Amino acid sequence: MGRIYGEDVPVTPAFPAAAGGKAVKAVKDGGKGLLLYIHVPFCKSRCHYCNFHSQAFNQVTFAWYHKLLLSEIELWGKRLKKPMLRTIYFGGGTPSLIPLQQLDQIMKALGKHFEFSPAMEVTLEANPDSAQDVSYFRALLSMGINRLSLGMQSLNDLELHAMGRPHSAAMTFAAYDAARQAGFGNIGVDLIWGLPGQRLKTWIDQLQTVADMRPEHISAYNLTVEPGTVMAKMLDEDGDFNVPSEQEQGRMFIYGAEYLESVGYMHYEVSNFARMGFMSVHNSGYWDGSDYLGLGPSAVSTIGRRRFNNPRYMDEYDAYVRGGLVGNDHEELTDNDLLKEMVMLSLRTSRGLDLKDFRKRTGFDLVKRKEQLISALHRENLIRISHGFLRLTKNGMLVSNVIIRRLAFED
Ligand code: SF4
Repeated sequence: MGRIYGEDVPVTPAFPAAAGGKAVKAVKDGGKGLLLYIHVPFCKSRCHYCNFHSQAFNQVTFAWYHKLLLSEIELWGKRLKKPMLRTIYFGGGTPSLIPLQQLDQIMKALGKHFEFSPAMEVTLEANPDSAQDVSYFRALLSMGINRLSLGMQSLNDLELHAMGRPHSAAMTFAAYDAARQAGFGNIGVDLIWGLPGQRLKTWIDQLQTVADMRPEHISAYNLTVEPGTVMAKMLDEDGDFNVPSEQEQGRMFIYGAEYLESVGYMHYEVSNFARMGFMSVHNSGYWDGSDYLGLGPSAVSTIGRRRFNNPRYMDEYDAYVRGGLVGNDHEELTDNDLLKEMVMLSLRTSRGLDLKDFRKRTGFDLVKRKEQLISALHRENLIRISHGFLRLTKNGMLVSNVIIRRLAFED
């Protein structure tokens, strides 16, 4: 379920002047500590829309993964000289499938090979079908896991069925209540909108139910039907599959965001909303360009200008960890790569792109360089420039992929 980046990044250079101009500073952690992501590539079953890297959970493969993960933790800890962690994020896959004893061993290994910052945010993604008991949630808290990301996705059983989710809405309510009862004071829920059969009214009704539960954080992602998924096949066979029209999806996004803002949720990133003081530290770190270390199969790390890609499959991951290859191969990010990512990530946030900082890093003025495009976007009420920041409006967020591509990846 974890997402580092929502889109593929085109590789063509976008800012040729930068390469010939001032060097772009690699983004550092600012002394606040690394973000750590642990990929848990196991699920009970495959959801119909999912193309994340995961496989069916079984004890033998999990034990294999667990052993390799503990080694990878030790190897990176030594290589980076026991750095300070600002966050830990267990994503997947379904991290709530990790047996408690093994999860405890992972947390202890992290404590041995890394420093923990005093206010470290530790998130675990949990699915309602594998996390139901108060005692389970109490055990998570006792290990230092202080934030829960609950894979709610929908509170409508028909929608859950259409998505192939292995849980009902009742199970989600039970999991949420159990987590609260155990003492979790920071719970985020994930939702998907634009589903087959969903309409503006049912979406807003659902948001009201969710907001009444008062989770600290709500992520609401638009359904994307990826090629090769069960849903893509269903779509092929069943025409429009009863998905809401583009116009209706536009209204779902705008009215949904306005509704959540009206009940106290800050819209701080295209798909993310938080009550005051509960923005995800981990994801905000990605969006502001902080260094992050990713462990487990298919995880990605960026440290300074270096990008590391872990092998995707277990046998390759085994060879990588046991063959002593951890952290050996990397791709060196160019000035252009860093700039593209800076534009892409910051424009997804409500803070927007700091134009002064951009000028300092590149030596050129984005507004002047893209004058015509920026004027057109402004006229169409898709962007706004104020106090030195360029931001997407809500209408702009609806077509953020296109705007970001044109601003960051086209000359
Ligand atoms: S729980 Fe479903 S959506 Fe999440 S990673 Fe597993 S298969 Fe994908």
